[in-house]
Amino acid sequence: MNYFNVGVLSIQGDIAENVSAVQKSIKKLNYRGIVNEINNDKHISKLDGLIIPGGESTTIAKLSMIDKLLKKLQNKINDGMPIFGICAGLILLSKYINDKKIGPTNQLHMDLLDIEVERNYFGRQKDSFESYIEILLPKMIKTKGIFIRSPRIKKVGNGVQILSKLNNNIIAVRQNNILATSFHPELTHDTILYEYFISMIQQHHDQTH
Ligand code: GLN
Repeated sequence: MNYFNVGVLSIQGDIAENVSAVQKSIKKLNYRGIVNEINNDKHISKLDGLIIPGGESTTIAKLSMIDKLLKKLQNKINDGMPIFGICAGLILLSKYINDKKIGPTNQLHMDLLDIEVERNYFGRQKDSFESYIEILLPKMIKTKGIFIRSPRIKKVGNGVQILSKLNNNIIAVRQNNILATSFHPELTHDTILYEYFISMIQQHHDQTH
């Protein structure tokens, strides 16, 4: 049976919730694996997949400059490692970043996911909300989305598949080995997004081993 080493970027944000959601999903799928909190470059080479949790994208990016972590992750993702960016994680992965109110943010980012993202589109902390959403994984599935200072995806490039929309705003996409959502699956009990991400890891693992 395959053994997966899944990392959760542990600089700032929803770390513990993601670790336990991945653990729960690995168990549910009857796989074996470990989940590691990643806050330096030491164990990156051994990872089979990584989650960048929600939090504050500018803070995560700045603190990730230590050990040139972002650059090293960028190379690893370019080599095909599956990555799941949640909310701030989605923003960090994007190519083009604007803030709803201030426009282009010029923040550090990984420049990998060919989308234009609009930060804080769904409002401030007090405007957080939950909504039922439908998402293509690869069948259309209903789940709950929790939105906390979430971005929307304004435009997508050719290689980007739209997985979900809410009131005509794109909220989940996939581009090859990159999965990204503007909502927070770690805050619901439904592990479907993590199970889908683990299936991406499984496929990549089968192709490379
Ligand atoms: N608005 C935050 C940012 O721009 C993201 C919010 C979140 O991850 N919940 O980084």
